[in-house]
Amino acid sequence: MINVIVSGYKGRVGQEIAKAIVKDPELQMAGGVDVGDDLAQMIKDTKADVVVDFTHPSVRLENFLTIIEHGARPVVGTTGYNENEIADLQVMCREKNIGAIIAPNFAIGAILMMKFAAQAAKYLDCAEIVELHHEKKEDFPSGTAVKTAQLMLNVRQEFNKDVKDKVVNLEGARGANAGGIHIHSVRLPGFVAHQEVIFGTLGQTLTIRHDSISRESFMPGVIMAVKKVMTINELIYGLENII
Ligand code: NAP
Repeated sequence: MINVIVSGYKGRVGQEIAKAIVKDPELQMAGGVDVGDDLAQMIKDTKADVVVDFTHPSVRLENFLTIIEHGARPVVGTTGYNENEIADLQVMCREKNIGAIIAPNFAIGAILMMKFAAQAAKYLDCAEIVELHHEKKEDFPSGTAVKTAQLMLNVRQEFNKDVKDKVVNLEGARGANAGGIHIHSVRLPGFVAHQEVIFGTLGQTLTIRHDSISRESFMPGVIMAVKKVMTINELIYGLENII
């Protein structure tokens, strides 16, 4: 039995995770923590094996360090990590010989969307990303959009070289720029988590789109990661590395 704490258990995703853990015969819910609770104390009291963290980008590092310092294994969906932070945490996990998984997106369909975008980037050199989320999501662009751009840039260093952004009528209209790939963030009620990667070339466009229409979409990936993290001794970044 794997003993699991949910950090952010009162949140939109946290509530779904608690339900998914209770349903799985190999997992046991050790407890939940939210704002104002003592995560370190709960790990000590319950001897938790794994802490699943879906909280807030502002506490991502603090929570991650608390978890590994108290001997539990983090499975993290909280967004906001940059490449340098991931590299530092990878060193720390290796030194402590402890498993950890951080994934900007736990939906299997979103992983495939990222993989397909990276494949298309081999053949098409003009692309932009549009990510669409519910209005309560505080950070932008999404971790998934940044990760998608990174995967595409691993395949091809230069995008959109012939696209001319000369006359700025309104600042920000072209969105963020990740290595030449523009990322546009839409925040509206009615959305959960969605992303389009649009490629354009002579006389044609290709759109690769993924939609999470409910937060249940993240659960198979989270449960898989909770089981996987018990078998590794390093930090894995991205669900695509374990499916
Ligand atoms: P949410 O509904 O706001 O839930 C977050 C919960 O964590 C809230 O109950 C919040 O409390 C609590 N919290 C905040 N700071 C905390 C702390 N220091 N310790 C413990 N709990 C704390 O947000 P959500 O939609 O569930 O998303 C949570 C995070 O997961 C976000 O970063 C989001 O971008 C990310 N996310 C990732 C994926 C993925 O697949 N990787 C999917 C969806 C969402 P208050 O409300 O009182 O602040």
